[in-house]
Amino acid sequence: MRDTLADRIEDSRDDLIALTQDLIRIPTLNPPGAFYREICDYLSRRLSAHGFACELLRAEGAPGDSDRHPRWNLVARREGTRPGDCVHFNSHTDVVEVGHGWTRDPFAATLEGDRIYGRGACDMKGGLAASIIAAEAFIVEHPDFAGAIEISGTADEESGGYGGVAWLAERGYFSPQRVQHVIIPEPLNKDRICIGHRGGWWAEIETRGEIAHGSMPFLGDCAIRHMGAVIDTFERHLFPALAARVTQMPVTPEGARHATLNLNSVHGGESEEPGYTGLPAPCVPDSCRMIIDRRILIEEQYDDVRAEVIALLDDLKARRPNFDYAIRDLNRIDPSQTPQDAPVVTTVHQAIRDVLGRDPAYIASPGSYDQKHIDRIGKLKNCIAYGPGILELAHKPDEWVSVRDMLDSAQVMARSLQALLLP
Ligand SMILES: [Zn+2]
Repeated sequence: MRDTLADRIEDSRDDLIALTQDLIRIPTLNPPGAFYREICDYLSRRLSAHGFACELLRAEGAPGDSDRHPRWNLVARREGTRPGDCVHFNSHTDVVEVGHGWTRDPFAATLEGDRIYGRGACDMKGGLAASIIAAEAFIVEHPDFAGAIEISGTADEESGGYGGVAWLAERGYFSPQRVQHVIIPEPLNKDRICIGHRGGWWAEIETRGEIAHGSMPFLGDCAIRHMGAVIDTFERHLFPALAARVTQMPVTPEGARHATLNLNSVHGGESEEPGYTGLPAPCVPDSCRMIIDRRILIEEQYDDVRAEVIALLDDLKARRPNFDYAIRDLNRIDPSQTPQDAPVVTTVHQAIRDVLGRDPAYIASPGSYDQKHIDRIGKLKNCIAYGPGILELAHKPDEWVSVRDMLDSAQVMARSLQALLLP
């Protein structure tokens, strides 16, 4: 189905490529959080020229923000000619470290056939560029639209979003009074709608013992053996219980439809000095620390998830001589799920059907993304992730995005704007 809006987007192919390349060439690496101001200034220049009012906001006081690495965010808003809903496209501007294994310059943004290569091409500068092309084409075709369009470029998604979407949400930028529909163009593939994500609880467990000479361990109490007992009890009781739980959410890959636990790290005993080549002094360790990463299903409650682990530790304390532990919460992420009959879901569904000629697949993310802040802090439930790019390429060497996929996604986004803003 083609109309003048669709033609306009197809005709913007060269502009879309140049825009994506410009964005990739600004190396917004996080950590440390570099060039946020530069990319916000670039977006601001581009969007101002299309009638957007642009606000540059530094997330002062947020984790990671400093004068050396300020957390700059851009919120651009284009008012329509009459009252109506606001559709917001939110993209994070940060990219992860380059890593090893590249066969191309990660910030040259080379075009090879249908692909643009570079760090952030897929996650998610290609999605950001597609949303800009879609919004600009829609505004030119329908200057009399109702409501408003917002485009944001936000910091720090890759490190939790506290200097980006969370900070903006705390200041009302995602309140249901201001914004009614949110699309996050993360690379979930052009024919899939992501309705949310699992939650998470990260914590550090410490077991304690008593230091003594390593030749006479019976005179001390080995904290690492106590941690071994913790891992053993997890193996016997916790991992089987988690594997038996299945969510109704369409989490992809399917293994992540179960509750999961990862043991991120274990450290006990003397600290290892980098570069030290001598022998270690023999000691019985009096402390062992383990970091756990528990992913939470939408059907589970955060307090129950914590209590389940603490009950196992308390049980060990009752049974195992001299066992004692401490637990410290490190991070909490609540699961988020947008209902499948929410307006942004049904609208994008229909647009995908119109543009691609097939129904979309519904998925949910095993990890999380900025929807958590829009849901929990912003209290806005009408939010999805939808955008071009192959999820499996994110954070990999030789990451790329397909120009064809970006154009198709832009078509879907523009049709969604027609449905939502042309009542
Ligand atoms: Zn991303």
